[in-house]
Amino acid sequence: MDGNFYIVSTPIGNLSDITLRALEILKNVDYIACEDTRVSRILLDKYSISSKLFDCHKFNEKERSEKIISLLNEGKNIALISDAGTPLISDPGSVLINELYKNNVKITAIPGACALIDFLSLIPRDSEEFSFIGFIGRTFKSQAEIINKYKYSNLVFYESPNRLKDTLNNILEISGENTKIAVGRELTKVFEEIKIGKISEIIDYYNHNPIKGELVVMIFAANGNSTEDDVLKEKIQILKNEGYSPKDISKIISKLYGENKNKIYKLSLN
Ligand code: SAM
Repeated sequence: MDGNFYIVSTPIGNLSDITLRALEILKNVDYIACEDTRVSRILLDKYSISSKLFDCHKFNEKERSEKIISLLNEGKNIALISDAGTPLISDPGSVLINELYKNNVKITAIPGACALIDFLSLIPRDSEEFSFIGFIGRTFKSQAEIINKYKYSNLVFYESPNRLKDTLNNILEISGENTKIAVGRELTKVFEEIKIGKISEIIDYYNHNPIKGELVVMIFAANGNSTEDDVLKEKIQILKNEGYSPKDISKIISKLYGENKNKIYKLSLN
């Protein structure tokens, strides 16, 4: 296999956020595989890059892998880019890269913008540790499973503006009112905004301000001092305030979080 293959990071909003090496590679390759040719054309035109473009997205990745391998065999150099940021980070490319490894293709990544990393560099944290899960699930149940699983780690995820309010309300219900979160919106763009605070403050802020653009969210690691029972008690109190009986509360919490029914029943009697 004679051709070279590059995974090239592109900007996440501000078109100047692209490295000199990325521009040089994109100018010199024979082909650029991208998610959507219309989106990538804007960036390539700005930098007068005329390498041939073809699409490679989650619906045709497998078939495109064959085309890319045969072009590499002909000695062509190819770059993969996504609509924004770093390919394969909540973006297509995994199927293709797997195929390339199987075919012993040498792969070079050209690092650059990534919303996750840009966001993390802006958020003060007590610990370096974080868990990134890409886009968070949509249902309350799937969110509860993930949020409880990563309770003691800083949990970072991508979320759409249309779902942010529901997700924030779910976080309040799942993790309690003492939960601290951070939201990064429109990173690197003119209306970039970072909000850090208790979940209720952030909910209140977005109840009074529009949620437009792209978002990254972090739920800070739960304080190791608060015990599992404290977190359960907070959930029980929320349901009590809604008028649920201890019997109903034990049923609901055990079903949602897999907790022991009797334990919840006893805690909710206090
Ligand atoms: N590959 C990209 C990266 O490196 O960040 C992520 C692609 S994923 C399909 C798109 C999601 O990333 C958006 O829905 C949003 O959650 C997040 N994102 C991308 N650009 C962003 C930005 N400028 N500000 C905040 N979040 C952003």
